[in-house]
Amino acid sequence: MAILTVENLHKNYGTIQALKGISFTVPKGSVFGILGPNGSGKTTLLGIIVDILRATSGTVKLFDETPTREHRKQIGTFLETPNFYHYLNAVQNLEIAAAIKGHGKEDIDRVLQMVSLDQRKLSKFSTYSLGMKQRLALASCMLGSPEVMIFDEPTNGLDPVGIAETRELIKKLNKQGKTIIMASHLLDEVEKVCTHVAIMQKGTLITHGHVDEILVQEDIVETGAADV
Ligand code: ATP
Repeated sequence: MAILTVENLHKNYGTIQALKGISFTVPKGSVFGILGPNGSGKTTLLGIIVDILRATSGTVKLFDETPTREHRKQIGTFLETPNFYHYLNAVQNLEIAAAIKGHGKEDIDRVLQMVSLDQRKLSKFSTYSLGMKQRLALASCMLGSPEVMIFDEPTNGLDPVGIAETRELIKKLNKQGKTIIMASHLLDEVEKVCTHVAIMQKGTLITHGHVDEILVQEDIVETGAADV
């Protein structure tokens, strides 16, 4: 089953054509990387998929259907570090996030354990390192155990330990059966974490498919699609 299908997506910001007809399908159970340099349209694409941006034209289907509110509940999103309350601890912040999303509190301990924050769950958010803040954001998207998770540059700004931990977490979620869609500008990240990749450049999709087949094509890597 296709978790997500986008067909001929266009997005214009005034005269800027951010997306120029993007089409691809994300298979269930994949870690699907959207790889491209800054400005190639990754964030715009993810914004349309999660319904915070409106496409100029084209369609998005979730679970082979036109998205409904119920479908969207099955998606956890991490598009930017959310505005947690600095003077509250991790548990209190997740209680608020769970209430906003319509989930109960019973999931909070599980997600904190998954992101290795259980030992620091009673510390104020203001005392957290950037890596811990990022992990709390990932924990927030895991509330309610959504089938699909969408991450925009999930390792951005992290130190090497934080990067390794986040990549391991993504692989762990995938082993648990979750489908992950993630934008990245790092070729090595996509190689290490993803099963599938779509390569974007200047609002177009150059190619997409299984990582093993796509990233061996030297000409693809040499296009400068990734700035590493
Ligand atoms: P980055 O990693 O830097 O966020 P990206 O690959 O995610 O890059 P987008 O942020 O989607 O790319 O940007 C695609 C293009 O659309 C760029 O030319 C960008 O300048 C432009 N753009 C994005 N958002 C807006 C906006 N709100 N108004 C005008 N232009 C925008």
